Amino acid sequence: MPQVTLNNGVQMPLLGFGVYKVAPEQAEQAVTDALAAGYRLIDTAAGYENEEGVGRAIAKSGIPRDELFITTKLWVQDHGQETAKPAFERSLDRLGLDYLDLYLIHQPFGDYYGAWRAMEELNREGRTRAIGVSNFYPDRLIDLITHNKIVPAVNQIETHAFFQRTDEQKLMVEYGIQHESWGPLAQGGEGFFDNPVLVDIARAHDKSVAQIALRWLIQRDIVVIPKSVRPERMAENIDVFDFQLTDEEMARIATLDTGRSPIFDHHDPKSVEWLSAARFNT
Ligand code: NAD
Repeated sequence: MPQVTLNNGVQMPLLGFGVYKVAPEQAEQAVTDALAAGYRLIDTAAGYENEEGVGRAIAKSGIPRDELFITTKLWVQDHGQETAKPAFERSLDRLGLDYLDLYLIHQPFGDYYGAWRAMEELNREGRTRAIGVSNFYPDRLIDLITHNKIVPAVNQIETHAFFQRTDEQKLMVEYGIQHESWGPLAQGGEGFFDNPVLVDIARAHDKSVAQIALRWLIQRDIVVIPKSVRPERMAENIDVFDFQLTDEEMARIATLDTGRSPIFDHHDPKSVEWLSAARFNT
């Protein structure tokens, strides 16, 4: 599996497995299947309420810990300098781990400055090899960098053929932040798998639309974490390293950008209210 090197020298797989909306009772089997398919990066969150299942799958896999790259995320309710560390320890307990590879602020709301300072300490203490953020638009990202010590290693943001984030990626490259895509398949919405451009390119390579969409992100140096609970799709989604899209194909896919999210609007006051009120693992 190709790796990217984060701004602190830590290596991160270019492709991993996400478990958003994988039910707690399904998570152990899904992650067991993903590890068997060759995935080594697992992306979960306190907010997904499935860290225990992920942890059980890791424990029984027998895969050496240093061959895995485990990410989890801090939820808004635990933002704050005093509350972030205990929340981190609870996530680690649920995962059955004694350190993390990447710990992310899940959403840019509440006292995430306090949370970031606690995460900086966790990073310095070696409890998490890297720290980063998720769903940070450029203004919040630059403000966080400007007023703190450690530059986030990663920003995990919605990125797919219909919402490409090219200008934001340029900014992240400038600041040494690795771009990680969530929703690389647009969660299957907006006719993603029937899109004529993607279908046409898929036919030309004898690959699936999912494989083309993932390969396109990888060729932009973006880390991808597609999710599926079906083993045949897990195998398909990781099988993207034996072909290459041409410059012309990359440019055709670039025309599909709508410049807005079909999934979630972080600027909508209703979204802010909803995310800030949500409580998990209480
Ligand atoms: P995704 O774009 O990976 O789409 C997943 C859906 O696509 C699946 O449920 C399945 O229906 C379909 N699918 C997957 N593989 C397929 C294939 N080969 N062929 C046909 N259909 C296929 O969406 P996602 O799960 O939202 O995003 C991936 C991961 O990103 C998540 O699991 C999670 O780890 C992370 N994520 C993070 C945030 C955040 O706020 N940080 C938000 C959403 C997701």
